[in-house]
Amino acid sequence: MRFNIANLAGDGVGPEVLKEGVKVLRAAEKAIGGFELEFQDYAVGANCYLQTGSALSEDVFQECKKADAIYMGAIGIPGVVDSHGTEVTGHVMFKIRFDLELFAGVRPIKLYPGVRSGLADKSAIDFVVLRENCEGLFASYGGGTYTFDEVATDTMVITRKGSERLFDYAFQLAQKRNGRVLDGKKMVTCSAKWNVFRSFAFFKKIFDEIADKYEGQVQRDYAIIDALTLWMVQQPENFDVIVTENMFGDIISDMAAGFIGGMGMAPSGDIGFKHAMFQPSHGTAPTIAGKGIANPVAAILSGQMMLNWLGERNNSGEAKMAAALIENAVAATILKGAKTTDIGGTSSTESFGDAVVASLNKLAG
Ligand code: ATP
Repeated sequence: MRFNIANLAGDGVGPEVLKEGVKVLRAAEKAIGGFELEFQDYAVGANCYLQTGSALSEDVFQECKKADAIYMGAIGIPGVVDSHGTEVTGHVMFKIRFDLELFAGVRPIKLYPGVRSGLADKSAIDFVVLRENCEGLFASYGGGTYTFDEVATDTMVITRKGSERLFDYAFQLAQKRNGRVLDGKKMVTCSAKWNVFRSFAFFKKIFDEIADKYEGQVQRDYAIIDALTLWMVQQPENFDVIVTENMFGDIISDMAAGFIGGMGMAPSGDIGFKHAMFQPSHGTAPTIAGKGIANPVAAILSGQMMLNWLGERNNSGEAKMAAALIENAVAATILKGAKTTDIGGTSSTESFGDAVVASLNKLAG
């Protein structure tokens, strides 16, 4: 079985971390066998915009659409903005997310043994932030209004179709997981601000409709978004899958990355019914770019999520096995003490990637 991957390295630390991700994926492909990975590199992002006037050409978009999955590093350079004054990052991210309908922003928040949490006294953290990826406040991207230099607006958009598919995804994700850390209970926590806004009252109503389908299998739970941020910090073990609107998900997933060692540890998948893109949750980290010190774990684990998704979608037990092997290799490497500087170690980006490959080969026997 052959999987064609569109590789979008991007800007800043993007190419540095993606290189290690590809290295580890190749090692897993070799160790397990039964599937082949074909990577095609394409230029996208701020450097591409500076060179060609476009951050994502139509040709590259079509190649992404044809690929079995998209693997991205990170994109954007501060100050590289379009005529509206906003970063060109959105031209790539939102074009791919919206046009390929990658509605489920899956952001696992898992603390690996050997990494110090940003939360005091927490040693076991394992939940997922599921961010709606195509609507909410981001539906206004490229739109909104700007009138006579006096008034600017962006509009919150919640649709029935967008919410139903999101909540179904949330409950199905909870079914596959092992439940929350506290007691193993499978649970989906819906979060927004329905006490104030009609759009979110509608969001919650649809959540309840979908939750009914999973009654007796997965527990439903609610948290108003401001209270949720407090409870996430105080009792992260209470959560299994947290599902929320696009902008809220953007914000709480960055906060939650702080629980597990920072942005360098946080992978993500943007997943739809037909297509998916996998990338670290972090941006291009311009202050550390080019120094060879970026943490590649988020990129490696995003590659692991991609392989698992490809395995599920194509019924490839080998691809799923290879994905599990990658996660075990990352965990073993960190436990051995190999870490980049952001999580208290001395490894370079490259030497950490090499150490994961060594662990993987050892685990594979
Ligand atoms: P964006 O808006 O594009 O998501 P951002 O403004 O949130 O980006 P990031 O680039 O994600 O910013 O960086 C946030 C912080 O995390 C910075 O201090 C950065 O150095 C750090 N960081 C991000 N990625 C990594 C990484 N791979 N390794 C180590 N530190 C990182």
